Amino acid sequence: MLTIGCHLSASGGYLAMAKESVRIGANTFQFFTRNPRGGTAKPVDEADITAFHTYCAEHGISVILAHAPYTLNAAAADPRVLEFCESTMRDDLRRMEYTPGNLYNFHPGSHVKQGTEKGISLISDMLNRVLTPNQTTTVLLETMAGKGSEVGSTFEELRAIIDRVELSDKLGICMDTCHVSDGGYDIIDDLDGVLEQFDAIIGLNRLRAMHINDSMNPPGAHKDRHACIGEGHIGRDAIIRVITHPKLSHLPFYLETPQKDNDGYAAEIAMLRAAAHGA
Ligand code: FE
Ligand code: FE
Ligand code: ZN
Repeated sequence: MLTIGCHLSASGGYLAMAKESVRIGANTFQFFTRNPRGGTAKPVDEADITAFHTYCAEHGISVILAHAPYTLNAAAADPRVLEFCESTMRDDLRRMEYTPGNLYNFHPGSHVKQGTEKGISLISDMLNRVLTPNQTTTVLLETMAGKGSEVGSTFEELRAIIDRVELSDKLGICMDTCHVSDGGYDIIDDLDGVLEQFDAIIGLNRLRAMHINDSMNPPGAHKDRHACIGEGHIGRDAIIRVITHPKLSHLPFYLETPQKDNDGYAAEIAMLRAAAHGA
């Protein structure tokens, strides 16, 4: 069975997100660990987490993906920005251990005129500071579109970060279909070729989650504007080939499409489940 869900608001807590997932036909979900602009996270509610675990066991929710605020920048030049990134990631990873064995995704960072090499070393230094040997959470580097000075829009850059991290067994990759297409990888006409490249450079064993989004822009545009499935340049058929590919179909898939409400996601999930079933 396809493991698929979407980005949900975390404001009602874990149990509320799990119930909303089931309501919309999902069996996983993604959420922001705190307000995407940063700020403090709500205190951990242990009763909510206990009820959440029971509910997930009963409803077949086996993995969830926490997304770090997108304002973190592990490749920043300003030491205050680096400090904020470090304390936020540390706190997020501590809180993640209340729901052990899940995934924590972050945008590697933007080197802001310092150059890609410097960005890579700053990001790996950050990971070396925040990862701990006993954590059960896998930290995912998201593949980026290459907008501005973003690091991580090529498989080589992601590999270079992983190579410099001591506890690299705690690291994986979340591939975003909009971002890789914008980054210039031809997932529309040569998905097999892209996966071969990924395997040769990073290793498919590192690929732990997929963001499935269509793109408002053509391949290689480096823009990062998500579209609903079938309403962008990637197209519905190419997305269905992703979720049914024998090397990918076991992964959890997350929609981050510009739906106006969760009923929109419900329809998108139903369409993808039906297509995957028929494929
Ligand atoms: Fe993201
Ligand atoms: Fe994404
Ligand atoms: Zn994006």
